[in-house]
Amino acid sequence: MARRRRAGRAGRRGTRRLRVAFGRVAQETNACSPLPTRLDDFRRLHWLEGEALLAACQPGRPEVAGFARRAELSGFVAALRRHGEGRVEPVPLISAGAVPGGPLRAPTFAALRDRLLAALDAAGPVDAVMLALHGSMAAAGHPEADVELLRAVRDRVGPDVPVAATMDLHAHIHRRVLAEVDLVVGYRTNPHRDHFRTGLRAGRALLRVLLDGARPTTAWRSLPMIVGGGTTIDLLPPMAPIFRRLRALDDEPGILAASVFACQPWSRAPEPAWAPVVVADARVPGARERAEAAAEELAEALWAARTLLPPEPLAIDAAIEGARRAAAARALGTVCLCDASDAVGAGAPGENTAVLRALLERGRDMRSYVPLRDPEAVAAAFAAGEGGRFAGAVGGRLDPETSPPLPVEGRVRRLAPAGPFGRAAVVELGPVALVLTEAPPMVSKPRFFRELGLPILAAGVVVVKTLFPFRLYFAAYNRKTIYARTRGATDLRAALSRPADGPVWPRDPVEDWREADRRRRIEADGAR
Ligand SMILES: [Zn+2]
Repeated sequence: MARRRRAGRAGRRGTRRLRVAFGRVAQETNACSPLPTRLDDFRRLHWLEGEALLAACQPGRPEVAGFARRAELSGFVAALRRHGEGRVEPVPLISAGAVPGGPLRAPTFAALRDRLLAALDAAGPVDAVMLALHGSMAAAGHPEADVELLRAVRDRVGPDVPVAATMDLHAHIHRRVLAEVDLVVGYRTNPHRDHFRTGLRAGRALLRVLLDGARPTTAWRSLPMIVGGGTTIDLLPPMAPIFRRLRALDDEPGILAASVFACQPWSRAPEPAWAPVVVADARVPGARERAEAAAEELAEALWAARTLLPPEPLAIDAAIEGARRAAAARALGTVCLCDASDAVGAGAPGENTAVLRALLERGRDMRSYVPLRDPEAVAAAFAAGEGGRFAGAVGGRLDPETSPPLPVEGRVRRLAPAGPFGRAAVVELGPVALVLTEAPPMVSKPRFFRELGLPILAAGVVVVKTLFPFRLYFAAYNRKTIYARTRGATDLRAALSRPADGPVWPRDPVEDWREADRRRRIEADGAR
């Protein structure tokens, strides 16, 4: 791809200490969510600046309190400490993150961008910049918010200061984002649990540029596809061998970073793509060719995986009936019933009441646990107190068009102080244990229920509002997985009705990925 910078930069081998600025502005945007993301959403979840950020990235300190003990920036700072030969000083900027949700409001994006740039200005001259981004962030009027952030940083530091970025596996990769960075490093796990290692890899690669004079050059491909790869869990085929190949590439001479990206499906980014990205050191003989060959090979592997589509969700009645018929699964363990249209891990509000309504109407012979976001109902449960009577409507407050609030009556069994999903309340509604949370219930681990006094094996049906992570973490209990279609921001049909720059799989039959790749990557580059 075209580099706008003069190729070649000697390693900074002087004795001066090198200053590397680092920060984060990250949110996974779901364009189908009716709820805009506000500054308060960042301030509530994760917001650190300056020395507080640096302190949070030290060993033993939580980087994103309540969510990630050690994440990308801790990994990045650890790499500088371990491999920086005592010559590299991390310079903290800001770190802000919000849960997946709707596009940022325009003033929210402006505030985040301005805060990041003000921190960069205050930091004085730096020798490199590293940003932890999601890669799918969009704001009202700013469809490619990550690109704008990177471009603004680039404008501040100039063309010769290397800029690295870590990104989520579900980032949108296209030529505009790659034009703004020297190094892109992505997660290699799904469910994502290698944030720290990703930051570590970014740090090591950037040090090779800073200390050894490596000259990053990027090989990539753009496959016109929205979904594929089956469950996309990294431990299972067809993704497992692809991630294994990425790890093997780390050991090849002159390869600085190797990643694949699988776009956020519920987006309005104009060029939906699965994309391998391999960064090589242009000084190393044959490295550029190896990177091109690896990108090509990874592209073919990703394209072959497209035909394994995500599981087709059942209508809610069929899903309940499926759980009932799975009596052996319920006796030996549990049935995980995924509310596929209201998956908070992919940006849905988490307050759809359809599954709760169906279980109360037609699933009364099964013990079930149902998480639901509703801060007002949590407040009412706290007002009633443990053992008190709860009567009122739950859910459907933020987006009543999708699912109306549901009147329920029961007993408050348990109240829990603020955790990662805000305060929580368990309300017993006959056979259903309703778990009300203040924030979107991004529940993927059994521990969440256990800590509320709800052992998994006591439940026949556990409702989850994440798409895939639960399949890994509930593996010891889950005897049958059922995906249910309700209505909401993560309905796959909504993802497929998105705009695109041409035919895109699986919305359209696409025989060959190369036509889109040529148009997006080569011809667009030539037109620059
Ligand atoms: Zn992701």
